[in-house]
Amino acid sequence: MSSRRPTRLVAGNWKMNTSVADGLDLARALRAGLDGSGVEVEVLPPFTHLVGVRDVLRGSSLRLGAQNCYAEDKGAFTGEISPLMLADICDDVLLGHSERRHVLGESDELIARKLVAARRHGLRVILAVGETESERLEDTTMAVIDRQLRSALEKLDEVSDGELVLAYEPVWAIGTGRTATPAQAEEVCVHIVTRLDQLLGEVASSVPVLYGGSVTADNAAELFGQPHIHGALVGGASLKVDAFTAIVRAAEVATAAAEQR
Ligand code: PEP
Repeated sequence: MSSRRPTRLVAGNWKMNTSVADGLDLARALRAGLDGSGVEVEVLPPFTHLVGVRDVLRGSSLRLGAQNCYAEDKGAFTGEISPLMLADICDDVLLGHSERRHVLGESDELIARKLVAARRHGLRVILAVGETESERLEDTTMAVIDRQLRSALEKLDEVSDGELVLAYEPVWAIGTGRTATPAQAEEVCVHIVTRLDQLLGEVASSVPVLYGGSVTADNAAELFGQPHIHGALVGGASLKVDAFTAIVRAAEVATAAAEQR
């Protein structure tokens, strides 16, 4: 396995929450507390909030991401948003989130096409992968992760530093309050790191691997203490300034500790 010191990242997926006004207030509060953090901090608001949040965050260290995009640049795709439209507003786009896969029925193939389209427009992609509860019980977790990774990454020509982030999100842990144990999360993140090395070669060592699934201020430190967990994709707790701030602080402490090793 290549030696890894990727960027540490804490990203908040707001999902379909907050009015525009409340979202801008949340962004202002996060900027006030987290600008200049020792780790990358990112917010992923709904599409309707992106321009406003971009203006709030302008000149700060916080990154801005969209929660999804379509696989084409333009055309008759009512209700969709293209990566070309996002590229002027956002740094990143989240693709393959379990709610897109399992609630909205996105296939591996569609996610792969979206990834290529997003990269064509220079967006960094946060690619989420993870098994359902029944897949875990059937002991197919690693096979599911392999399939999702291979299918998403095989159509990409080349990946350079800073273009890709992975997020391991067990579906059974998302929004359920049932966090994977640090050992469970680490086991799958090690597997992801190994596969990334095989699929991407040298650049894989710069790809952060996040854990997501009911991360809170109480469990973040232990998760970040695992050597192959480089941050978190946070849902529910990212809507609360105190909780999200505490998670970022835990990532800062873990980063400082890792740098001393
Ligand atoms: C998510 O939306 O990616 C997520 C991990 O949600 P939660 O933290 O609420 O489980």
